[in-house]
Amino acid sequence: MGAAQQVAGAFEELYGTAPDGVWAAPGRVNLIGEHTDYNDGFVMPFALPHVATAAVARRTDNVLRLHSSDVEGGVVELSLDALEPGTDQEWTAYPAGVVWALREAGHPVTGADVHLASTVPTGAGLSSSAALEVVIALALNDLYELGLQRWQLARLCQRAENVYVGAPTGIMDQTASACCEAGHALFLDTRDLSQKQIPFDLAAEGMRLLVVDTQVKHAHSGGEYGKRRAGCEKGAALLGVDALRDIAYDDLDASLERLGDEEEVRRLVRHVVTEDHRVERVVALLRAGDTRAIGPVLTEGHASLRDDFQVSCPELDLVVEAANSAGALGARMTGGGFGGSAIVLAEAADVDTITKAVEEAFAAAGFKAPRVFEAVPSAGARQES
Ligand code: ADP
Ligand code: MG
Repeated sequence: MGAAQQVAGAFEELYGTAPDGVWAAPGRVNLIGEHTDYNDGFVMPFALPHVATAAVARRTDNVLRLHSSDVEGGVVELSLDALEPGTDQEWTAYPAGVVWALREAGHPVTGADVHLASTVPTGAGLSSSAALEVVIALALNDLYELGLQRWQLARLCQRAENVYVGAPTGIMDQTASACCEAGHALFLDTRDLSQKQIPFDLAAEGMRLLVVDTQVKHAHSGGEYGKRRAGCEKGAALLGVDALRDIAYDDLDASLERLGDEEEVRRLVRHVVTEDHRVERVVALLRAGDTRAIGPVLTEGHASLRDDFQVSCPELDLVVEAANSAGALGARMTGGGFGGSAIVLAEAADVDTITKAVEEAFAAAGFKAPRVFEAVPSAGARQES
């Protein structure tokens, strides 16, 4: 039985009627462009085969019933009129936040019954939260015939996470989950949300992309993220631009000089400006068919996140070091940092050697064994049945 059928069956058992439909939305991996999305910059995620799958039925009585097979406890029932940002510390804040954001934007959503199950690992930097938000948003968009476009759904989901849940994330995760296409990476300009699908079919070229989940959990809405964000804003203000995106790569040295003894801000600015440049380099290389050459750019990006932005951790650094020593084409942490996952670009023939090297390095360091899997660029959110 497929996942959609299973989730529909569980819905029926739970609520006593069949759902109106089943939708799925993926988690994502960011190929390059980290901590750029709240600086109006560039990102380049692709969707994972791992998805949140939700069976949903409409209601007309302003009641929202939520159930996740991945969380202990029964159905949670919420009144739409009582939805209030910041009041829910549980997982239900994500789907409830989406309903809140839709209604606040004037969309006539009058309730829903939801049952969901997800194969996206949580807290691994693979955006299980965006998958959860986007699957609900797409389902309600279809069921209530709201006619919203994918990028608009992503915006509403971001608002749900920022305002309702209270996690200050950028727009990348939700856009990736909503807009990615199989066999492609999504080159997204987070300033105007313009996007381009860049062919990214590694298997056809004899390569693989591994995700190494360090199983170290990050606290994403925690203080460190907010500090980096505030530091970037300070840098933009000191340099007299709207966002760090506006600092041209060629003007980087002059800009850093202008920041004088603001050492921390200088580091943050240098990462963001060079990272935007790395995204553009990766796009150019992929368009030129020079896929192997993106490897060193990924590794360079890791060094920048580790040394300048300082959001890596010993486990992530070890993945990159061990994978590259074992012959990877390149590797970097992905996602917000402080744990979560790293990605490794490798020749198909080297995958086993590299996986073993990373596992052995983790064992030798006394770290918990990492979870390694292959990431195939997959489809974005869709209706399943
Ligand atoms: P990430 O998005 O990197 O996985 P977050 O901390 O942003 O990490 O989001 C993880 C949270 O999303 C979980 O703690 C939980 O509240 C919610 N979540 C994700 N997947 C599910 C699920 N299948 N069922 C219920 N809640 C989920
Ligand atoms: Mg998240």
